Amino acid sequence: MVRIVDVGGRLVEVQVRESPRARLLRTVWRPGEPAELVVPVGTSNRAIDAALRAHAPWLARQLDAERVRVLDPPPLTEHEGRRLAGELVRETIVAESPRIGVRCRRISIRDTRSRFGSCSSKGSLSFSWRLVLAPRRILDYVVVHELCHLVHLDHSRRFWSLVESARPDFREQRGWLGDHGWELLAYRPPRDALGDV
Ligand SMILES: [Zn+2]
Repeated sequence: MVRIVDVGGRLVEVQVRESPRARLLRTVWRPGEPAELVVPVGTSNRAIDAALRAHAPWLARQLDAERVRVLDPPPLTEHEGRRLAGELVRETIVAESPRIGVRCRRISIRDTRSRFGSCSSKGSLSFSWRLVLAPRRILDYVVVHELCHLVHLDHSRRFWSLVESARPDFREQRGWLGDHGWELLAYRPPRDALGDV
């Protein structure tokens, strides 16, 4: 079960995991991995909510320590970024769709604030052009993630195992986005010489 927790204004996914060995509710966090709340079997939702609230300040401190800037993108205008993003996204779709066994009908490149990729119920995929600022494997992961949504339009266990079969080390890329996605959003592109943004 995944809960979304407001950690100092930042929405963070916390995986809640029941463990037969757990006696206390304990938050576990490792750099580059999703946070986890380990609870004794049969813990009530109320107790889980209370623990998530109580542990949020601690989690915020861990995440702040991780907010180290790693991104140093070349100056890229939004116009160039959108064109490049379209090319790279299509390239990955061509390579990955047959392996995942899907066909993507429509893609669009946007400047989304909240998500780097999304999949509509009609099967069209959208991507943020800002993914071109990240290492290529991160863009690839987001494309694979959305292609897998053409099979499972949810974040169920079946969905994640499909992602894992296509990208066995997807946790690293998902963790990277969690740690550094804010840098992609913070990037201010220079204006195009012709002003054609
Ligand atoms: Zn998703």
